[in-house]
Amino acid sequence: MALLVQKFGGSSVGTVSKIRNVARKVIAAREKGNDMVVVLSAMKGETDRLLDLAHEVCEFPDPREVDSMISTGEQVSIALFAMAVRDMGHEAISLLGSQAGIHTDAIYGKARIDRIDPERIRRELGAGKIVAVAGFQGVDDTENITTLGRGGSDTTAVALAAALKADLCEIFTDVEGVYTTDPNVVKEARKIPRISHDEMMEMASLGAKVLEIRSVQFAKNFNVPLHVRSTFVDTEGTLVVEGGEGMEQQLVTGVAYNKNEARITIFKVPDKPGVAAQVFEAISAANIVVDMIIQNTRAGDMTDISFTVGKTDFKQAMEIVKRVAIEIKAERVMGDQSIAKVSIVGAGMQTNPGVASKMFSALAAEDINISMISTSEIKISCVIDEKYTELAVRVLHKTFGLDKEENNKS
Ligand code: ADP
Ligand code: ASP
Ligand code: MG
Repeated sequence: MALLVQKFGGSSVGTVSKIRNVARKVIAAREKGNDMVVVLSAMKGETDRLLDLAHEVCEFPDPREVDSMISTGEQVSIALFAMAVRDMGHEAISLLGSQAGIHTDAIYGKARIDRIDPERIRRELGAGKIVAVAGFQGVDDTENITTLGRGGSDTTAVALAAALKADLCEIFTDVEGVYTTDPNVVKEARKIPRISHDEMMEMASLGAKVLEIRSVQFAKNFNVPLHVRSTFVDTEGTLVVEGGEGMEQQLVTGVAYNKNEARITIFKVPDKPGVAAQVFEAISAANIVVDMIIQNTRAGDMTDISFTVGKTDFKQAMEIVKRVAIEIKAERVMGDQSIAKVSIVGAGMQTNPGVASKMFSALAAEDINISMISTSEIKISCVIDEKYTELAVRVLHKTFGLDKEENNKS
């Protein structure tokens, strides 16, 4: 008998009939003799709806209250699911993050899981029940409800699988696995049967939202076997596995895009030690994560600094930067929310110097201007105008032969 953690995302539980479908699938696995822990997301669109409500009330809603509210979407899903399972003649119980022992730090909206006490889950499993746990939420040391950041139900599932030493964690979603790029943008995208943790982490951090990045970190750190697959089609999906020897080293494994970033530029910053530190310390003190940073030197003793932050942090970051700009005597601050980041990812890239120029030429051939570039050993990212995102993704996917089998080995 195995212990399985199965996670179903928002589109898999988007309607009552879909919830009943999920209940049937879970019962089928239970009837094969498995212990079942099921993590659910809010019904599709619900988290956005709740966030919009908060922003209707005020521009900067209190983060504690936002988390109390947006965590309710998952509470509805698990309760409906447990009702459906019971209606089909099986035992089930729904548990909130706090009841399931998921303890986090106190950073609302992007809390990190500190520890999991799985006692209650084990007890309920011992009593023969299917246990449904609310994804995306936890509780801090003073019993405030926290949420883990968008897409965080994936992290709940893998973290629970690690804490329970589950035999397998299955992430059920609306596509058949991890593809060479978003299959909803490029119809020639191919399913990747096995992907290494490191490549998957890059893809996730660069915008491939099929898995949330921290879930992959948990899977890697705690050796959780992870399978991404479809809720609606019964096929093998993608296994996320240890990389290294024996793995096929593709030159480029995938193309990712992210439209959820915005750029802030501070013009004519005095070019002297300590100025950048002053800007970025103020931003990090507000728990805002900065992604790309570029500094251009101007003639004389002035420089321009550009950087990107998540769109949800944009307003707050602008306020902070405008304040600091006055302190450091910079000329002015400008924000741009109509950018996108397109990236190519692949472990084989480290040993192949021609990849970057091939990427830039492909974008240039379509007249797509690149405004920022960043590279690491296994990825290259370019910031472009948001309206060219889909075109850029399609062009890069084709340029690196990802639409073909046996395409681009180094
Ligand atoms: P869920 O609600 O199940 O968590 P998400 O919407 O968070 O689902 O993630 C699934 C979506 O991720 C897909 O519908 C697809 O559009 C998108 N996606 C982006 N990049 C990829 C990729 N490389 N492979 C598969 N799906 C991807
Ligand atoms: N409901 C949350 C969100 O929309 C968490 C998740 O779906 O994973 O981000
Ligand atoms: Mg998701």
